[in-house]
Amino acid sequence: MELQTIEDKDYKGKRVFLRVDFNVPIENGVITDDTRITAALPTINYLLDKGASLVIASHLGRPKGKTVPEMSLKPVRERLATLLGKDVIFSEDCIGPDAEKKASGLKAGQILMLENLRFHKEEEDGDKDFAKKLSGLADSYVNDAFGTCHRKHASIYQIIEHMDSAACGYLIQREIKALSMLLDNPRKPFLLILGGAKVLDKIGMITNLLDKVDTIITGGVMAYTFIKAKNWETGDCKVEPEAVPAAKEIIKAINKKHMEFHTPLDHIIADRISPDAHFFATDRGTVPNNWIGVDIGPQAIEEYIDCINRAKTIFWNSPMGIFEIEPFSRGTMEVARAIAAADVFSVIGGGDSVAAVKKAGVEDKVSHICTGGGASLEFLEKGTLPGIEVLKK
Ligand code: ADP
Ligand code: MG
Repeated sequence: MELQTIEDKDYKGKRVFLRVDFNVPIENGVITDDTRITAALPTINYLLDKGASLVIASHLGRPKGKTVPEMSLKPVRERLATLLGKDVIFSEDCIGPDAEKKASGLKAGQILMLENLRFHKEEEDGDKDFAKKLSGLADSYVNDAFGTCHRKHASIYQIIEHMDSAACGYLIQREIKALSMLLDNPRKPFLLILGGAKVLDKIGMITNLLDKVDTIITGGVMAYTFIKAKNWETGDCKVEPEAVPAAKEIIKAINKKHMEFHTPLDHIIADRISPDAHFFATDRGTVPNNWIGVDIGPQAIEEYIDCINRAKTIFWNSPMGIFEIEPFSRGTMEVARAIAAADVFSVIGGGDSVAAVKKAGVEDKVSHICTGGGASLEFLEKGTLPGIEVLKK
C-alpha cells in the first residue's frame, strides 16, 4: 500500500476537491496569523499549473454544526485571493444548489472556496451522505489538511469512497517526512523536550518515543506532574492528577534504560498567575506550599541549554512555563533560542509551542514547524493517521 501523492495523478481539465486546514486565528474579522494558508500554497499552485480547477474546503473553529458568522471563511477567501493574486469565488454553503452550480461552472485555473464545513454537524460525525454530497462537487480529491488527518471527518475520510482519484498534497508530505525522521533512525542523541499542559493527551506519544530518545527534559505542568509522581513537593503548582499514574509508569520505564530524564533543577515561583505577581527563583527542584511554579529557573535553563547543544535531533512539544505572561516567559524563550542556534534537526509541534517559537522570532531557524498539534502528537504515537491511511492504495 503506497501513499498516493499529487505527483502520481493527472489533473489536466479536472475539478479537484482540495481539503485544506485553513483554521486560522481571527480577531475582529482580521486574520492574525496566516501560516496555515501560506502552507497550502505550493499544492494550490501545483494543481492550478497542471490545469485543474479547485473546490477548496476547510473548517474553522468549533461552530458545532451551526452557522456562526464569526467562524465564516470569508476573511480567509479574501486573504487567499490576495496571496494568489487571483479571484476566489465563494459559496455560502459547502453543499447544496449554490455550491453545485458554482462548482460545475469552474473553468481550468479557477477557484471556488466553500463556506466552513463544520457549519454542518455531519462533517464531524463522518456522515456518509454528507461526504457523498461533497464528493459530487468535483472529479478528484486532494487532501493537504494535515492538522485534521487524525479525525475521521466526512471531508477527510468518508469522502474517499466516492472519489476515483485521491492523493495528498505537499504539506502532508512535508509533515510526514519530518515526523518520520523522528520515528525512523533519528540522529543521536535525540532530545525530547516536554512542557505545557494537557499531560494525559501526550502520554501515548511519550511512551512510543521512549525507545527512540536519549534524553528527556521537562517544564510546565508536564514537569509538575512528573515531580508529583516522584512524591516531591509541588506547592500550589498546576498538576494533572489523572496523569500521575502514567507518569509513574514512564519514570519506571526510564529507570530501566540508559537515558537521561530531567525535571527542572529550580523554578520560578509566584504568589499568583499575573504579570504583577511576586516571584523569585527557588534554589531546588521542589516548590514550597502556597507558591505556584510558573517557569523553569536559571539553573534549569543552563542545564537544558547544555542538553540542547549536545543533541543532534530534537522534538519540542509545549512551553516551559506560562510564556504568555512576560516575566514567566524566559525559560521558553531561552529554549527556543538555544534550539535555533544549535546544529540540530529540530521539529516543533503544538499550537502554543509554535506560538512561542514565533514570539522568540526564530521560526525560520528551526528545521520543521508542525501545522497540526494534535495530528503531530498522534502521528508520533501511532506512526500514521486515519486521514493518511485512506490515501494509500
Ligand atoms: P501546545 O499547544 O504547544 O501543545 P499545551 O497546550 O499543552 O501546549 O500547553 C501550553 C499552555 O501551558 C500554555 O498556555 C501555558 O501557559 C501553559 N503552562 C505552561 N507552564 C505552565 C505552568 N507552570 N502552570 C500552568 N500553566 C502552564
Ligand atoms: Mg495548546
